Amino acid sequence: MRFAWTIWFLLLAALSAQAAPPALVTTYAQMTARLQADAARSPLVRVVSLGKSAGGTRNLWLVRLADPAADPAKTTRLLVLCRQHGDEPASTEAMLRLIHSLASGSDPALSPELAHVTLYIVPMVNPDGAGAGTRVNGRGADLNRDWGLFTQPETRAVANAAKLIHPSLIVDAHNWDGDDEYNADCIEIPRDMETKPGQAAHQMQQQTLRDLAACGYAVHPTAWGSDSNPHLAHRWFTHQNIPSLLVETHSGSPLDRADFERREGMYTALVHSLARHYPAPWMEKASPKTQEAALFPLPSSPEAVRRVTALPKHSFSWLWAFGLYGLALWGLTLRRPASNAPERVGRMPRQRGRYSYPQKRLKPERPARQKSCSASSAAAAPRPERRQARRSSSPRLLSGQRPL
Ligand SMILES: [Zn+2]
Repeated sequence: MRFAWTIWFLLLAALSAQAAPPALVTTYAQMTARLQADAARSPLVRVVSLGKSAGGTRNLWLVRLADPAADPAKTTRLLVLCRQHGDEPASTEAMLRLIHSLASGSDPALSPELAHVTLYIVPMVNPDGAGAGTRVNGRGADLNRDWGLFTQPETRAVANAAKLIHPSLIVDAHNWDGDDEYNADCIEIPRDMETKPGQAAHQMQQQTLRDLAACGYAVHPTAWGSDSNPHLAHRWFTHQNIPSLLVETHSGSPLDRADFERREGMYTALVHSLARHYPAPWMEKASPKTQEAALFPLPSSPEAVRRVTALPKHSFSWLWAFGLYGLALWGLTLRRPASNAPERVGRMPRQRGRYSYPQKRLKPERPARQKSCSASSAAAAPRPERRQARRSSSPRLLSGQRPL
């Protein structure tokens, strides 16, 4: 009897497993694995952590898509922020697909653009909210009401990265379901037409709307005035002289696979549009202010190293062989005991302490040492963030005119 029940339960379990639909939304753990795989696969893809989320356990990943032979400071730099609201997954899915397409070489349209456009993507600004399925982060704060206030680690980390990247333009990607007063996909700009970045955002909005219409996506323009909440990402960044767009994709029905793919297609078309119009007059084509090497100090792979240095592989091998041989000889010479060894051994600890550098002075030398290490595949792995949150305060939820 017991055997029959066991067979019955196993049969039910097999049937339910077969009937379960494939997961619609990528989890944080799945996203991390996909990003690491893409970074290992292609020198175009680099991934670093900007720090931890408010919950303290999830990394805030920043992905860079760039031609390793190009100088990011001489390219247009597009920063895309995804999923500030944890329950709005469309942009994350779209950007993960875009990253994978470039890493696997299946996006022939966008790859050549990377010679003059560098894409920076934060695929999940709010991983705690994504895990819990909530709009707010792990401290109950709405991140898209925190720009300029910076009470949350997520907004602080992204703003610090933006300072180093010095982006030419920013896209803040969201999606809404049901409560959208426009009942449509929208691209919003701050209504700051009297300022240069405001005018640039307006021109970008009009250009992308035309391109999206040509791809079959009917998207509406919206604009909010200076009386609206200034602590939303696209408004705050535009006030910092970085033209910024807020993109909303809409669905009047519960999320399903077809609707999801339509949104992914629209976000991908949007990035293609912005990259294709690189020589646009409103974009800053080059910036000496860019210090993104602080985020991405090393090429991602031995292939990238060879492209940057234009040296064949065997040259590195011979250089290393000679270098190690010289170091070994030098070490043997130093280790040879002197004739008065017993007297000098007693003073060794004091001498060693006198000539060793303090730990703080050693840290800046690390990138230079690692740069010569062409065989280091560890450079492709995400690096832990060294910056610490500069301040902390209680969670704060700001009220806005409408959910964005
Ligand atoms: Zn949103």
